Amino acid sequence: MSNLLEEARRYFPQLIAWRRHLHQYPEPSFEERATQAFLFSTLSSLPELRLKTAAQTGLIADLITNPKGPWIALRADMDALPIEEKSQHSYRSQNPGYMHACGHDAHMAILLGAIHLLWEQRTHWQGGIRFIFQPGEEKAPGGASLLIQEGILEEVPIQAIWALHVTPQLPVGTIGLRAGPFMAASDEIYIKLTGKGGHAAYPHLVGDPIAVGAYLITELQMVVSRATDPRSPTVLTFGCFHAGTAPNIIPTHADIAGTLRTFDEESRQYLKRLIHTVACHTAANWGLTAEVKWFSGYPVLINDRFLTTLTHQWASALIGSEKIQEVPLWLSSEDFAFYSQKVPACFIRLGTAGDSPQTHFPVHTPEFDISEEALVIGTALLTHLSLQALRFLGNPRSTFERPSSERE
Ligand SMILES: [Zn+2]
Ligand SMILES: [Zn+2]
Repeated sequence: MSNLLEEARRYFPQLIAWRRHLHQYPEPSFEERATQAFLFSTLSSLPELRLKTAAQTGLIADLITNPKGPWIALRADMDALPIEEKSQHSYRSQNPGYMHACGHDAHMAILLGAIHLLWEQRTHWQGGIRFIFQPGEEKAPGGASLLIQEGILEEVPIQAIWALHVTPQLPVGTIGLRAGPFMAASDEIYIKLTGKGGHAAYPHLVGDPIAVGAYLITELQMVVSRATDPRSPTVLTFGCFHAGTAPNIIPTHADIAGTLRTFDEESRQYLKRLIHTVACHTAANWGLTAEVKWFSGYPVLINDRFLTTLTHQWASALIGSEKIQEVPLWLSSEDFAFYSQKVPACFIRLGTAGDSPQTHFPVHTPEFDISEEALVIGTALLTHLSLQALRFLGNPRSTFERPSSERE
């Protein structure tokens, strides 16, 4: 047991207060103004921090002990979800219709805690740490992509980035790691099938978008089972099918919408082209036209293998190797993926399931809550990883960059 856990525990009442304040005032994606103001005023008490706003509602805090030293980054997301909270807690949401149901309140409190601990330890490390409070994780195009466009990974030479995410599937006290592809790329597809429309008794004269749509949905599952490398998991789900007004009318249109989840960029692009082609050909075969639109979501999140190995080693020294699980592929997506395309990145699953039944509800549900003990673990972990990483990079021959053959 490192005493960093004890150091973080000193902050436990403060971590709870920060988290509960943020939990009470959730704001939707890209509207995190009160959240930004709260973070700004909280961090203004640390004079060495350089603060600046980014992507309108985001906040960047730089702590530099040696301008010539190495740089790393830590990220917390800020936005809440349009969900009405079901809870009797004193700290339940005070903003009707919105809730921190993905735990981003906890991520911000943990990052505030890590900033304070690293500030206290500032004579013990050399370099710079960029703390990124990022808006709009839950909404395309994702705050990460906006911050990267603003140059936040290049203004200072960031060599690695970490983030953690609350995870009710893991017990509090544990963390989950996975090297390589971790969370899915996600894209939305919208297909409009169009025919002439007409009397239900004369289908041979008009083309039927409902029958063809039903056939197309089934046929597109062949794309998943027959045109995809079975070693790279793929999901194609259609969640919408809208057509028709009456039992005896063949409608002119059918609108179908779905989501594609993939785990590598090559198959993602190949499947998008193939699905487009199959939809157009199938429609044409049956006398219809198909209009296909893709709405691109987040890319696949790749945990750099070398950085994840080091993260595992360093985290073991803090919490014990028995508290670290290898977790399976995650089919949801995360805009932290954009950072992972630019610099070595590691996304960590932080266990938050405790004694209370509410801490076992999944994220994005109105009952969701966390065991606040996880705030201590998260704060100690981000602090410890930062100290270890900067010590590692302090050796001029050490780098996280690997030859491309060793990276994902
Ligand atoms: Zn979420
Ligand atoms: Zn989230």
